[in-house]
Amino acid sequence: MNTIEFFINNKQNFLNELFDLIRIPSISRHKDSVQTAANWLENKLRQTADYVEQIPTTGNPVILAEWEPQYLEISASSHPTLLFYGHYDVQPPEPLDEWISPPFEPEIRDGRIFARGIGDNKGQFFAHIVAIECLHKLNQLGVNIKLILDGEEELGSPYIDEAISKKQEFFEDVDLVIVSDGPADPTWKPTLEFGARGIITAQFELQTAKGDVHSGNFGGIQPNPVWDLISILKTMKDDQGKCLIEGFYDDVFTPTPAALKAAEDLNRDPEVYKEQLDITYFGEEKDLPITHRLMFRPTFNIRGISSGSVRENARTIIPKEVVAELDIRLVPNQVPEKIKQLVTEHLDRLKSESENYAQILERCEVNFGTSFYPMFTPLELPWTEVLAKSITEGFEEEPLKIPLAGGSLPLYSLYKATGKPIYIIPYAQPDEDNHAPNENMMVEWFEKGVKTSIAILNNLKG
Ligand SMILES: [Zn+2]
Repeated sequence: MNTIEFFINNKQNFLNELFDLIRIPSISRHKDSVQTAANWLENKLRQTADYVEQIPTTGNPVILAEWEPQYLEISASSHPTLLFYGHYDVQPPEPLDEWISPPFEPEIRDGRIFARGIGDNKGQFFAHIVAIECLHKLNQLGVNIKLILDGEEELGSPYIDEAISKKQEFFEDVDLVIVSDGPADPTWKPTLEFGARGIITAQFELQTAKGDVHSGNFGGIQPNPVWDLISILKTMKDDQGKCLIEGFYDDVFTPTPAALKAAEDLNRDPEVYKEQLDITYFGEEKDLPITHRLMFRPTFNIRGISSGSVRENARTIIPKEVVAELDIRLVPNQVPEKIKQLVTEHLDRLKSESENYAQILERCEVNFGTSFYPMFTPLELPWTEVLAKSITEGFEEEPLKIPLAGGSLPLYSLYKATGKPIYIIPYAQPDEDNHAPNENMMVEWFEKGVKTSIAILNNLKG
Protein backbone atom coordinates (compact mmCIF):
# COMPACT_ATOMS: atom_id res chain seq x y z
CA MET A 1 0.00 0.00 0.00
CA ASN A 2 1.33 3.44 -0.75
CA THR A 3 1.26 6.28 1.75
CA ILE A 4 -1.56 8.22 0.12
CA GLU A 5 -3.77 5.09 0.05
CA PHE A 6 -3.00 4.51 3.71
CA PHE A 7 -4.03 8.09 4.45
CA ILE A 8 -7.29 7.85 2.50
CA ASN A 9 -8.19 4.52 4.18
CA ASN A 10 -7.62 6.00 7.63
CA LYS A 11 -8.87 9.52 6.95
CA GLN A 12 -11.91 9.24 9.19
CA ASN A 13 -9.78 8.15 12.18
CA PHE A 14 -7.43 11.06 11.65
CA LEU A 15 -10.34 13.51 11.45
CA ASN A 16 -11.81 12.05 14.66
CA GLU A 17 -8.49 12.65 16.42
CA LEU A 18 -8.29 16.20 15.08
CA PHE A 19 -11.83 16.80 16.38
CA ASP A 20 -10.78 15.56 19.84
CA LEU A 21 -7.97 18.11 19.82
CA ILE A 22 -10.33 20.86 18.62
CA ARG A 23 -12.73 20.13 21.51
CA ILE A 24 -10.03 21.23 23.98
CA PRO A 25 -10.59 25.01 24.18
CA SER A 26 -6.91 25.95 24.40
CA ILE A 27 -7.40 29.75 24.41
CA SER A 28 -3.94 31.21 25.07
CA ARG A 29 -4.78 32.75 28.46
CA HIS A 30 -6.71 29.70 29.75
CA LYS A 31 -3.75 27.89 31.31
CA ASP A 32 -5.63 24.71 32.30
CA SER A 33 -7.13 24.08 28.86
CA VAL A 34 -3.81 24.86 27.20
CA GLN A 35 -2.13 22.30 29.49
CA THR A 36 -4.83 19.72 28.65
CA ALA A 37 -4.12 20.29 24.94
CA ALA A 38 -0.36 20.00 25.54
CA ASN A 39 -0.86 16.67 27.35
CA TRP A 40 -3.16 15.41 24.60
CA LEU A 41 -0.53 16.27 21.99
CA GLU A 42 2.29 14.72 23.99
CA ASN A 43 0.34 11.44 24.15
CA LYS A 44 -0.49 11.59 20.47
CA LEU A 45 3.11 12.26 19.44
CA ARG A 46 4.42 9.45 21.70
CA GLN A 47 2.64 6.93 19.48
CA THR A 48 5.24 7.44 16.74
CA ALA A 49 7.98 9.89 17.74
CA ASP A 50 11.41 8.90 19.05
CA TYR A 51 11.49 11.89 21.36
CA VAL A 52 8.75 14.08 22.84
CA GLU A 53 9.05 16.68 25.57
CA GLN A 54 7.02 19.53 26.99
CA ILE A 55 9.36 22.43 27.71
CA PRO A 56 7.94 24.53 30.56
CA THR A 57 8.24 28.32 30.19
CA THR A 58 7.14 31.37 32.17
CA GLY A 59 4.02 31.09 30.00
CA ASN A 60 2.54 28.01 28.32
CA PRO A 61 4.64 24.94 27.50
CA VAL A 62 6.35 24.48 24.16
CA ILE A 63 6.22 20.92 22.80
CA LEU A 64 9.17 19.39 20.96
CA ALA A 65 9.21 16.08 19.09
CA GLU A 66 11.59 14.24 16.84
CA TRP A 67 11.46 11.31 14.44
CA GLU A 68 14.60 9.60 13.23
CA PRO A 69 14.67 8.14 9.73
CA GLN A 70 13.50 4.52 9.60
CA TYR A 71 15.84 3.83 6.72
CA LEU A 72 18.35 5.84 4.74
CA GLU A 73 18.67 5.60 1.01
CA ILE A 74 22.24 4.63 0.29
CA SER A 75 22.19 6.72 -2.89
CA ALA A 76 21.12 9.86 -1.05
CA SER A 77 23.77 12.52 -0.92
CA SER A 78 22.42 14.14 2.24
CA HIS A 79 19.82 13.48 4.88
CA PRO A 80 18.34 16.83 5.74
CA THR A 81 16.69 17.59 9.05
CA LEU A 82 13.36 19.33 8.66
CA LEU A 83 11.72 21.36 11.43
CA PHE A 84 7.94 21.91 11.35
CA TYR A 85 6.49 24.77 13.41
CA GLY A 86 2.87 25.05 14.56
CA HIS A 87 0.92 26.51 17.48
CA TYR A 88 -1.72 24.75 19.58
CA ASP A 89 -3.15 27.81 21.37
CA VAL A 90 -6.19 29.51 19.84
CA GLN A 91 -7.90 32.92 19.82
CA PRO A 92 -10.89 33.51 22.13
CA PRO A 93 -14.15 32.60 20.29
CA GLU A 94 -16.15 35.76 21.09
CA PRO A 95 -18.65 37.01 19.94
CA LEU A 96 -20.29 33.64 20.66
CA ASP A 97 -23.73 34.51 19.26
CA GLU A 98 -22.28 34.89 15.77
CA TRP A 99 -21.24 31.23 15.58
CA ILE A 100 -23.63 28.97 13.65
CA SER A 101 -22.35 25.90 15.56
CA PRO A 102 -20.54 26.02 18.92
CA PRO A 103 -16.86 27.02 18.47
CA PHE A 104 -15.41 24.02 20.29
CA GLU A 105 -17.78 21.41 18.86
CA PRO A 106 -16.44 20.83 15.34
CA GLU A 107 -19.10 20.43 12.67
CA ILE A 108 -18.72 19.72 8.96
CA ARG A 109 -20.99 21.78 6.70
CA ASP A 110 -20.57 22.15 2.93
CA GLY A 111 -17.20 20.42 3.01
CA ARG A 112 -15.83 22.73 5.71
CA ILE A 113 -14.94 21.96 9.31
CA PHE A 114 -16.20 24.82 11.48
CA ALA A 115 -14.43 25.33 14.83
CA ARG A 116 -12.18 27.79 16.66
CA GLY A 117 -8.57 26.89 15.95
CA ILE A 118 -9.23 24.52 13.03
CA GLY A 119 -7.34 26.68 10.52
CA ASP A 120 -5.33 28.70 13.05
CA ASN A 121 -3.57 26.44 13.63
CA LYS A 122 -4.58 22.93 14.76
CA GLY A 123 -5.78 21.61 11.41
CA GLN A 124 -2.65 22.85 9.68
CA PHE A 125 0.00 21.36 11.98
CA PHE A 126 -2.08 18.21 12.44
CA ALA A 127 -1.71 17.66 8.67
CA HIS A 128 2.06 17.38 9.27
CA ILE A 129 1.53 14.94 12.13
CA VAL A 130 -0.82 12.80 10.00
CA ALA A 131 1.70 12.76 7.13
CA ILE A 132 4.48 11.68 9.48
CA GLU A 133 2.27 8.96 10.98
CA CYS A 134 1.29 7.57 7.56
CA LEU A 135 4.93 7.30 6.47
CA HIS A 136 5.94 5.90 9.86
CA LYS A 137 3.28 3.15 9.80
CA LEU A 138 4.61 2.01 6.42
CA ASN A 139 8.28 2.27 7.46
CA GLN A 140 8.83 4.98 4.88
CA LEU A 141 10.35 7.78 6.97
CA GLY A 142 13.57 8.68 5.18
CA VAL A 143 14.43 12.05 6.72
CA ASN A 144 15.02 13.38 10.17
CA ILE A 145 11.95 15.31 11.31
CA LYS A 146 11.57 17.72 14.19
CA LEU A 147 8.44 19.48 15.38
CA ILE A 148 7.96 22.52 17.62
CA LEU A 149 4.47 23.41 18.87
CA ASP A 150 4.11 26.88 20.37
CA GLY A 151 1.53 27.44 23.14
CA GLU A 152 1.36 31.23 22.95
CA GLU A 153 1.53 32.31 19.31
CA GLU A 154 -1.72 34.25 19.63
CA LEU A 155 -0.07 36.38 22.34
CA GLY A 156 2.99 37.08 20.19
CA SER A 157 5.07 34.08 21.41
CA PRO A 158 6.59 35.99 24.36
CA TYR A 159 8.38 32.93 25.81
CA ILE A 160 9.35 30.87 22.77
CA ASP A 161 12.95 32.13 23.01
CA GLU A 162 13.04 30.95 26.62
CA ALA A 163 11.99 27.42 25.55
CA ILE A 164 14.46 27.42 22.65
CA SER A 165 17.34 28.50 24.89
CA LYS A 166 16.65 25.53 27.20
CA LYS A 167 17.00 23.10 24.29
CA GLN A 168 19.46 24.77 21.93
CA GLU A 169 20.98 21.45 20.80
CA PHE A 170 17.57 20.38 19.44
CA PHE A 171 17.75 23.16 16.83
CA GLU A 172 21.43 22.95 15.90
CA ASP A 173 21.25 20.35 13.11
CA VAL A 174 18.08 21.70 11.45
CA ASP A 175 18.48 22.36 7.70
CA LEU A 176 15.17 24.07 6.93
CA VAL A 177 12.01 25.18 8.70
CA ILE A 178 8.45 24.87 7.41
CA VAL A 179 5.55 26.78 8.92
CA SER A 180 1.99 26.07 7.86
CA ASP A 181 -0.12 28.93 9.15
CA GLY A 182 -2.28 31.73 7.84
CA PRO A 183 -4.55 31.53 4.79
CA ALA A 184 -3.43 30.82 1.22
CA ASP A 185 -3.32 33.60 -1.37
CA PRO A 186 -6.68 35.34 -2.09
CA THR A 187 -6.56 33.86 -5.62
CA TRP A 188 -7.10 30.38 -4.03
CA LYS A 189 -3.83 29.13 -5.52
CA PRO A 190 -1.59 27.03 -3.27
CA THR A 191 1.00 29.31 -1.78
CA LEU A 192 4.69 29.20 -0.95
CA GLU A 193 5.93 32.17 1.07
CA PHE A 194 9.53 33.10 1.75
CA GLY A 195 9.21 35.44 4.70
CA ALA A 196 7.18 38.19 6.28
CA ARG A 197 7.48 41.87 7.01
CA GLY A 198 8.36 42.86 10.56
CA ILE A 199 6.65 45.49 12.67
CA ILE A 200 7.19 48.08 15.38
CA THR A 201 4.45 50.17 16.96
CA ALA A 202 4.66 53.61 18.58
CA GLN A 203 2.22 55.61 20.67
CA PHE A 204 2.15 59.42 20.95
CA GLU A 205 0.20 60.81 23.87
CA LEU A 206 -0.07 64.58 23.98
CA GLN A 207 -1.90 66.32 26.82
CA THR A 208 -1.76 70.10 26.44
CA ALA A 209 -4.14 71.21 29.23
CA LYS A 210 -5.91 70.14 32.42
CA GLY A 211 -9.31 69.69 30.83
CA ASP A 212 -11.55 70.05 27.79
CA VAL A 213 -12.76 73.66 27.60
CA HIS A 214 -15.43 75.72 25.79
CA SER A 215 -13.96 76.55 22.39
CA GLY A 216 -15.60 80.00 22.46
CA ASN A 217 -14.62 81.01 25.98
CA PHE A 218 -11.03 79.79 25.71
CA GLY A 219 -10.55 79.60 21.94
CA GLY A 220 -7.44 81.61 21.12
CA ILE A 221 -5.41 80.71 24.19
CA GLN A 222 -5.73 76.98 25.09
CA PRO A 223 -3.55 75.06 22.63
CA ASN A 224 -5.21 72.40 20.52
CA PRO A 225 -3.35 69.08 20.94
CA VAL A 226 -4.73 67.62 17.70
CA TRP A 227 -3.29 70.39 15.53
CA ASP A 228 -0.06 70.24 17.49
CA LEU A 229 0.36 66.49 17.11
CA ILE A 230 -0.55 66.70 13.42
CA SER A 231 2.23 69.26 12.98
CA ILE A 232 4.66 66.77 14.49
CA LEU A 233 3.34 63.83 12.42
CA LYS A 234 3.50 65.96 9.23
CA THR A 235 7.27 66.19 9.64
CA MET A 236 7.49 62.39 9.30
CA LYS A 237 5.92 61.84 5.91
CA ASP A 238 5.64 63.81 2.66
CA ASP A 239 2.60 64.03 0.39
CA GLN A 240 4.05 61.40 -1.96
CA GLY A 241 4.01 58.81 0.82
CA LYS A 242 7.76 58.86 1.60
CA CYS A 243 8.82 58.68 5.21
CA LEU A 244 10.92 61.73 6.05
CA ILE A 245 12.67 60.31 9.09
CA GLU A 246 16.37 60.47 8.36
CA GLY A 247 17.86 57.04 7.66
CA PHE A 248 14.46 55.28 7.56
CA TYR A 249 15.17 53.61 4.19
CA ASP A 250 18.93 53.12 4.71
CA ASP A 251 18.79 49.39 5.51
CA VAL A 252 15.92 48.44 3.17
CA PHE A 253 17.03 45.32 1.27
CA THR A 254 17.38 45.06 -2.47
CA PRO A 255 15.20 42.13 -3.55
CA THR A 256 17.12 39.37 -5.32
CA PRO A 257 16.38 38.78 -9.03
CA ALA A 258 14.32 35.67 -8.20
CA ALA A 259 12.25 37.64 -5.68
CA LEU A 260 11.61 40.37 -8.24
CA LYS A 261 10.61 37.83 -10.84
CA ALA A 262 8.26 36.06 -8.39
CA ALA A 263 6.63 39.39 -7.54
CA GLU A 264 6.18 40.12 -11.23
CA ASP A 265 4.76 36.63 -11.87
CA LEU A 266 2.03 37.31 -9.29
CA ASN A 267 0.67 39.66 -11.92
CA ARG A 268 -1.30 41.69 -9.38
CA ASP A 269 -3.78 43.97 -11.07
CA PRO A 270 -4.13 47.44 -9.50
CA GLU A 271 -7.73 47.62 -10.72
CA VAL A 272 -8.65 44.44 -8.81
CA TYR A 273 -7.33 46.00 -5.60
CA LYS A 274 -9.25 49.21 -6.30
CA GLU A 275 -12.45 47.25 -6.70
CA GLN A 276 -11.83 44.89 -3.80
CA LEU A 277 -10.98 47.71 -1.38
CA ASP A 278 -13.33 50.28 -2.91
CA ILE A 279 -10.50 52.79 -3.16
CA THR A 280 -10.05 55.39 -5.88
CA TYR A 281 -6.35 56.10 -5.36
CA PHE A 282 -3.38 54.35 -3.73
CA GLY A 283 -1.57 55.32 -0.57
CA GLU A 284 2.08 55.18 0.51
CA GLU A 285 4.97 55.43 -1.97
CA LYS A 286 3.16 56.52 -5.09
CA ASP A 287 6.19 56.27 -7.40
CA LEU A 288 6.64 52.51 -6.90
CA PRO A 289 4.80 49.50 -8.41
CA ILE A 290 2.10 48.11 -6.10
CA THR A 291 3.67 44.64 -5.71
CA HIS A 292 6.80 46.33 -4.38
CA ARG A 293 4.77 48.39 -1.94
CA LEU A 294 2.95 45.26 -0.78
CA MET A 295 6.07 43.31 0.13
CA PHE A 296 9.43 44.93 -0.59
CA ARG A 297 8.93 48.31 1.08
CA PRO A 298 8.37 49.43 4.66
CA THR A 299 5.21 51.33 5.58
CA PHE A 300 4.65 54.18 8.00
CA ASN A 301 1.04 53.81 9.05
CA ILE A 302 -1.09 55.80 11.49
CA ARG A 303 -3.30 53.05 12.89
CA GLY A 304 -5.52 55.43 14.83
CA ILE A 305 -5.97 58.90 16.33
CA SER A 306 -8.31 59.61 19.18
CA SER A 307 -9.35 62.97 20.64
CA GLY A 308 -12.45 65.02 21.43
CA SER A 309 -15.79 63.73 20.24
CA VAL A 310 -17.55 63.79 16.89
CA ARG A 311 -20.80 62.81 15.17
CA GLU A 312 -23.70 62.35 17.59
CA ASN A 313 -21.39 63.11 20.55
CA ALA A 314 -19.98 66.31 19.04
CA ARG A 315 -19.20 69.11 21.52
CA THR A 316 -17.76 72.56 20.79
CA ILE A 317 -14.64 72.17 22.88
CA ILE A 318 -10.90 72.34 22.70
CA PRO A 319 -9.91 68.82 23.75
CA LYS A 320 -7.24 68.48 26.41
CA GLU A 321 -5.44 65.52 24.82
CA VAL A 322 -4.84 63.35 21.80
CA VAL A 323 -3.46 59.84 21.32
CA ALA A 324 -2.03 58.68 18.00
CA GLU A 325 -0.57 55.27 17.25
CA LEU A 326 1.74 54.25 14.46
CA ASP A 327 2.44 50.79 13.12
CA ILE A 328 5.53 50.65 11.01
CA ARG A 329 5.95 47.55 8.82
CA LEU A 330 9.58 46.62 8.29
CA VAL A 331 11.33 44.78 5.50
CA PRO A 332 14.67 42.97 5.53
CA ASN A 333 17.27 44.24 6.80
CA GLN A 334 15.52 46.88 8.91
CA VAL A 335 15.93 46.39 12.65
CA PRO A 336 13.10 47.43 15.03
CA GLU A 337 15.50 48.88 17.63
CA LYS A 338 17.20 51.02 15.01
CA ILE A 339 13.89 52.38 13.68
CA LYS A 340 12.95 53.25 17.25
CA GLN A 341 16.26 55.09 17.58
CA LEU A 342 15.70 56.99 14.30
CA VAL A 343 12.22 58.13 15.38
CA THR A 344 13.64 59.31 18.70
CA GLU A 345 16.47 61.19 16.96
CA HIS A 346 13.96 62.80 14.61
CA LEU A 347 11.97 64.14 17.56
CA ASP A 348 15.16 65.40 19.24
CA ARG A 349 16.09 67.23 16.03
CA LEU A 350 12.66 68.90 15.92
CA LYS A 351 13.11 70.05 19.51
CA SER A 352 16.45 71.66 18.77
CA GLU A 353 15.22 73.25 15.52
CA SER A 354 12.10 75.01 16.76
CA GLU A 355 10.85 76.48 20.00
CA ASN A 356 7.30 75.58 18.97
CA TYR A 357 8.08 71.85 18.43
CA ALA A 358 10.09 71.84 21.66
CA GLN A 359 7.08 73.13 23.63
CA ILE A 360 4.77 70.53 22.11
CA LEU A 361 7.17 67.62 22.55
CA GLU A 362 7.86 68.68 26.13
CA ARG A 363 4.29 67.56 26.94
CA CYS A 364 4.19 64.58 24.59
CA GLU A 365 4.83 61.07 25.82
CA VAL A 366 6.22 58.64 23.24
CA ASN A 367 6.23 54.89 23.85
CA PHE A 368 7.20 52.03 21.58
CA GLY A 369 5.30 48.72 21.67
CA THR A 370 5.36 45.33 20.00
CA SER A 371 8.08 44.55 17.54
CA PHE A 372 8.89 41.68 15.21
CA TYR A 373 11.93 41.40 12.99
CA PRO A 374 11.32 40.98 9.26
CA MET A 375 12.32 37.59 7.83
CA PHE A 376 13.26 36.66 4.29
CA THR A 377 14.59 33.49 2.66
CA PRO A 378 16.21 33.98 -0.75
CA LEU A 379 14.22 32.22 -3.48
CA GLU A 380 17.46 31.12 -5.13
CA LEU A 381 18.10 28.32 -2.59
CA PRO A 382 17.62 24.73 -3.85
CA TRP A 383 14.79 24.03 -1.36
CA THR A 384 12.50 26.30 -3.41
CA GLU A 385 12.30 23.75 -6.19
CA VAL A 386 11.79 20.77 -3.84
CA LEU A 387 8.98 22.53 -1.97
CA ALA A 388 7.27 23.89 -5.10
CA LYS A 389 7.31 20.37 -6.58
CA SER A 390 5.87 18.91 -3.36
CA ILE A 391 3.06 21.49 -3.20
CA THR A 392 2.26 20.79 -6.86
CA GLU A 393 1.94 17.07 -6.01
CA GLY A 394 -0.22 17.74 -2.94
CA PHE A 395 -2.52 20.37 -4.43
CA GLU A 396 -2.35 19.21 -8.08
CA GLU A 397 -1.57 22.82 -8.96
CA GLU A 398 1.61 24.86 -9.05
CA PRO A 399 2.02 27.21 -6.10
CA LEU A 400 2.26 30.97 -6.23
CA LYS A 401 5.63 32.08 -4.90
CA ILE A 402 5.17 35.05 -2.60
CA PRO A 403 8.46 36.65 -1.49
CA LEU A 404 7.03 38.29 1.66
CA ALA A 405 3.75 37.50 3.37
CA GLY A 406 1.53 40.01 5.12
CA GLY A 407 1.20 38.75 8.70
CA SER A 408 3.94 38.42 11.30
CA LEU A 409 4.93 35.08 12.87
CA PRO A 410 7.66 34.25 15.40
CA LEU A 411 9.86 33.47 12.42
CA TYR A 412 12.82 35.42 13.71
CA SER A 413 13.02 33.22 16.83
CA LEU A 414 13.16 30.14 14.60
CA TYR A 415 15.76 31.80 12.40
CA LYS A 416 17.88 32.78 15.41
CA ALA A 417 17.69 29.21 16.74
CA THR A 418 18.56 27.46 13.49
CA GLY A 419 20.21 30.04 11.20
CA LYS A 420 18.43 28.20 8.39
CA PRO A 421 15.88 29.12 5.71
CA ILE A 422 12.22 29.37 6.68
CA TYR A 423 9.25 28.69 4.40
CA ILE A 424 5.55 29.29 4.94
CA ILE A 425 3.13 26.91 3.25
CA PRO A 426 -0.46 27.72 4.32
CA TYR A 427 -2.86 24.77 4.27
CA ALA A 428 -5.97 26.82 5.10
CA GLN A 429 -8.02 28.25 2.24
CA PRO A 430 -8.16 32.07 1.85
CA ASP A 431 -11.55 32.47 3.57
CA GLU A 432 -10.69 30.46 6.71
CA ASP A 433 -11.94 33.41 8.84
CA ASN A 434 -9.28 32.87 11.49
CA HIS A 435 -9.71 35.07 14.56
CA ALA A 436 -13.38 35.57 13.53
CA PRO A 437 -16.64 33.72 14.26
CA ASN A 438 -17.22 30.59 12.14
CA GLU A 439 -13.54 29.92 11.58
CA ASN A 440 -13.29 27.02 9.19
CA MET A 441 -11.02 24.81 7.14
CA MET A 442 -12.09 22.92 4.03
CA VAL A 443 -11.72 19.14 4.40
CA GLU A 444 -10.29 19.13 0.88
CA TRP A 445 -7.57 21.63 1.89
CA PHE A 446 -6.72 19.54 4.97
CA GLU A 447 -6.32 16.50 2.68
CA LYS A 448 -4.19 18.46 0.23
CA GLY A 449 -2.10 19.62 3.18
CA VAL A 450 -1.48 16.04 4.32
CA LYS A 451 -0.57 15.05 0.75
CA THR A 452 1.80 18.03 0.49
CA SER A 453 3.52 17.13 3.76
CA ILE A 454 3.90 13.51 2.57
CA ALA A 455 5.37 14.78 -0.72
CA ILE A 456 7.78 17.11 1.12
CA LEU A 457 9.03 14.26 3.32
CA ASN A 458 9.47 11.98 0.29
CA ASN A 459 11.13 14.61 -1.90
CA LEU A 460 13.57 15.72 0.78
CA LYS A 461 15.11 12.24 0.97
CA GLY A 462 17.63 13.48 -1.57
ZN1 LIG B 1 -3.79 33.44 14.77
